[in-house]
Amino acid sequence: MAFWKQLNSIRWRILAPMVLLILASNFVVLSSTIDQLDEQLVLSLKGDLNSETDIVSVQLQASIRELMRDTAWLRGLPPIDGMMRAEANGGIDPLDNSTLQAWKNRLAIIYSEMLSAKPTRVQIRYLLADGHELVRIDRFGPNNSVRVVPVDELQDKSKRDYFLEAKHLPPGHVYLSAINLNRENGVIKQPQQGVIRAATPVYNDEGKLHGVIVINESVDEIFNDLLKLVRPSHELRITNAGGEYLLHPEPHKAFQFDYGERSNIVDDFPELQPLFFSEGGTPVNALETEFELISEKQIVVAKSINHNLLSDSGHLTVVLSADTLAALSVRQNVFQRNAYIITLTLIVALVAGLFVTRYITAPILQMRRSISRRKANLFDLPLPVNAPGETGELAQAFSELLTKLDQRQANLESEIAERKLAQEQVESNVKKLSEANAELQQFNYIASHDLQEPLRTVKSFVELLQKNYADALDGNGQTALRFIIQSTTRMQELIFGLLNYSRIGVDAPRVEVDVQSLLGSISQDLAARIAEKRGSLEFHDMPVIRAQATEVRMLFQNLISNALKFSRDGVPPVVKIFATRIDKGWQFCVSDNGIGISEEHRERIFLIFQRLHRRDEIEGTGIGLAHCKKVVEMHGGKIWVETSTDGGSCFCLTIMDE
Ligand code: ADP
Repeated sequence: MAFWKQLNSIRWRILAPMVLLILASNFVVLSSTIDQLDEQLVLSLKGDLNSETDIVSVQLQASIRELMRDTAWLRGLPPIDGMMRAEANGGIDPLDNSTLQAWKNRLAIIYSEMLSAKPTRVQIRYLLADGHELVRIDRFGPNNSVRVVPVDELQDKSKRDYFLEAKHLPPGHVYLSAINLNRENGVIKQPQQGVIRAATPVYNDEGKLHGVIVINESVDEIFNDLLKLVRPSHELRITNAGGEYLLHPEPHKAFQFDYGERSNIVDDFPELQPLFFSEGGTPVNALETEFELISEKQIVVAKSINHNLLSDSGHLTVVLSADTLAALSVRQNVFQRNAYIITLTLIVALVAGLFVTRYITAPILQMRRSISRRKANLFDLPLPVNAPGETGELAQAFSELLTKLDQRQANLESEIAERKLAQEQVESNVKKLSEANAELQQFNYIASHDLQEPLRTVKSFVELLQKNYADALDGNGQTALRFIIQSTTRMQELIFGLLNYSRIGVDAPRVEVDVQSLLGSISQDLAARIAEKRGSLEFHDMPVIRAQATEVRMLFQNLISNALKFSRDGVPPVVKIFATRIDKGWQFCVSDNGIGISEEHRERIFLIFQRLHRRDEIEGTGIGLAHCKKVVEMHGGKIWVETSTDGGSCFCLTIMDE
């Protein structure tokens, strides 16, 4: 609950949408950026690989061309012509008298210089037309220094491909061998070294083959230079025409074919198969072919280049590859950087938002605090009526409202005080009244009870007088005696009535009273009187009510007796009783066709001892209706009289539910 309350506060109603907006907009921007980024990354990686492949290819070709150029250039060196002239002239050059050996030495010096100047060169040799090495310069001296190989180490190379191929070439042409590991006497020389050999024929003036110049170039050195052109995250592979590795990121995989093992690029990238073999498996010579492969894992760019410019018989393939996922890892960085930015933006926005909302809600909170602290005295609340904008207006309106409320509360308080006073007065009056009533009842009871005793004595002595001394009295005395007896009897009746009146309903509980059977029983009791007057009593469908049984019986008996008693002369009394359900009670009406009661007496008749007739006209004590009124009031009801439809009286009363 407290959480929802917090969330409903003005502060959070401003902050929450703001935070959501920031998150949503950043999410949209980020997701579209990432999508485009992936595409761009792959494209740029492919572009990088392509340009690196081109550069590597061009550099490789340039190195090979340089080798070929140098080889061809060696043909034009003066010592070779000098040797030929000396040979033709019995061992002495006729031009400057140099010996054959001298020219040979000069050739060795030039070759040595050249080898020293070009670190990629491994050997420079001059083979004679029969294949024997005449001069050989290599790097196998102490500490790999350049040396002139002693005569006894010179070998016969007449069977080697470069000699056999080169000796048939036209003048000026250069043969390039396949690239393989350097061998000495047919054994791979350790540490292994990949070499390519360039060979060119030397013809004398008669066009006869004099020898072959051979340069061994270390491809390891060339490849090392090429690797410097490639980014560290990219992998460079170079294969021969059969797809066998000459260069591989894992060095032991290169030149495996020289050991009779297979280490072929097609095994690693089957998609590159068409660059090396046709579908039937025959080798193809795919010159200057480019190939691109983009997969989820890798991007591969391959380019085949011709290295044997003379024969077109062999080609090299430069393959550059890069890990796609590694390239896309930039995305991770972008993600992270964006996450930092989003978090930072959120924090800044939240802090700013908190300040702004604090600025807005502070006066409202102040109002709330003031109100909850000062509930008792609202009038002098320190409300922020001078706060800016709507808050100030709200406080102003609230302050006015409080003033009005305060006024109204003061009025209410004085009204309550007045009412309290009045109620206290009423209560004390009621108390006094009930005390007086109780006293009155007590008095009434005692008086009527105690009065009976002397009256009974008076009456019995008067009766004794009448019985024993009536004869002694004259006519006036006897009349007086008779009046005394009548008066005491009447007084007895009045006192009895008064006693009964004071006893009515005191502490009698309410019980179920079946009015229908109650009236039936009264009707039986009064049967003789009804018959005597040839009257009738009608009632039906009377309810069952909860009431004081004896009192209700007396109530109906009084009313019915009166209806019979106050009938018109010569008109048989017709008494009808009706019952109607009213709100929270019952209304009964006892109507007759008797003499009726004039308007002005309709209140008076319910007072005790009030009669409208003289006793000698119609018998009665004037206490019956007073009884009825008391019984009805004890049942929370009222009694009144109306004119009946027959012109007689209609006594109506209500008995309320408990
Ligand atoms: P009582 O009958 O002893 O005189 P009540 O208190 O019963 O005393 O009646 C008071 C008076 O009301 C009667 O004297 C009579 O004048 C008048 N009264 C009562 N009932 C009727 C009635 N049904 N018709 C006409 N007058 C009546």
